[in-house]
Amino acid sequence: HAKAAGKNTYAIFGSHMAELLRKRRELEHDLRAAIEQREQIEVFYQPVYSALGEAACSLEALVRWKHPTCGYISPTEFIPIAEETGLIHEIGIIVLEDACSVLSELPQMTVSINASGLELQSPAYSLRIMTALANRGLSPERLEIELTESVAIGDNRQLDRSITILRSAGVKIAIDDFGTGYSSFSRVQKFAVDRIKIDKSFIDDLHRSDSRAMVAAIITMAQAKGLKITAEGVETAEQLELLKGLGCDHLQGFHLSRPLARAGIISLLQLQSSATA
Ligand code: C2E
Ligand code: MG
Ligand code: MG
Ligand code: MG
Repeated sequence: HAKAAGKNTYAIFGSHMAELLRKRRELEHDLRAAIEQREQIEVFYQPVYSALGEAACSLEALVRWKHPTCGYISPTEFIPIAEETGLIHEIGIIVLEDACSVLSELPQMTVSINASGLELQSPAYSLRIMTALANRGLSPERLEIELTESVAIGDNRQLDRSITILRSAGVKIAIDDFGTGYSSFSRVQKFAVDRIKIDKSFIDDLHRSDSRAMVAAIITMAQAKGLKITAEGVETAEQLELLKGLGCDHLQGFHLSRPLARAGIISLLQLQSSATA
């Protein structure tokens, strides 16, 4: 009877797999259509605050897919599909264009965008960035590119070349989700970057002394190398105070502001400037 049970398990497993595959193909098809018709792809912006001031000084562009029947689908769900299908390049272009138009509209702000390793591995990528900036007469220093630690530690000559080109043009480079990879410290050593963003998982655990020690060590290392530090995923007033005390430069998280659509960002900034005027 074990045999029968086994067979049954395979049947269930098989139909589950088939269902997953069908869903996956459907999402892939819908994503392609969404990119072609463009309206379903939106770019939200999360404000980043200086530890010194009250006002947002920077914005992180975060892509959103508003699916016609499923509603908003998280980028953690559709970015991997975009990477597997090559659609990531198209998404990157949409986000880049939107970010550049925000930079034009808000001359006091800097903006960061998230780059996939696949984009950085493409020789067209750095040229595309430089062209988008030049078309609007934007200073390259106002754009920052975030790459995750796992991308940064990979060994790819074209990726290194893209970063060198962008950095020598003045574009800033940040390591995102710092602390979640492996050879992070050595890679940051080898590789010139401007900023590290401490991963939310460390911020979540700040009430623990070992996590506080880890964050303090990251900040000390970053400062010794002249790097800026952003803490991501700040959700409480306690975390905010601890991070300020540890010498973190920039802070980002739901406690300060959620990612907002462009209109929301503009009214937030208007509110801020009238509060400080
Ligand atoms: P990330 O770049 O590390 O972005 C931070 C993520 O944490 C965002 O999720 C943001 O909404 C969320 N977050 C910020 N503050 C808090 C907080 O206080 N609490 C919690 N629970 N979450 C917070 P989101 O927008 O869902 O993006 C997830 C990831 O998807 C991003 O992580 C990034 O890796 C990727 N992603 C987003 N937009 C793009 C894009 O345009 N291109 C590429 N290649 N990847 C993107
Ligand atoms: Mg990021
Ligand atoms: Mg991150
Ligand atoms: Mg992340």
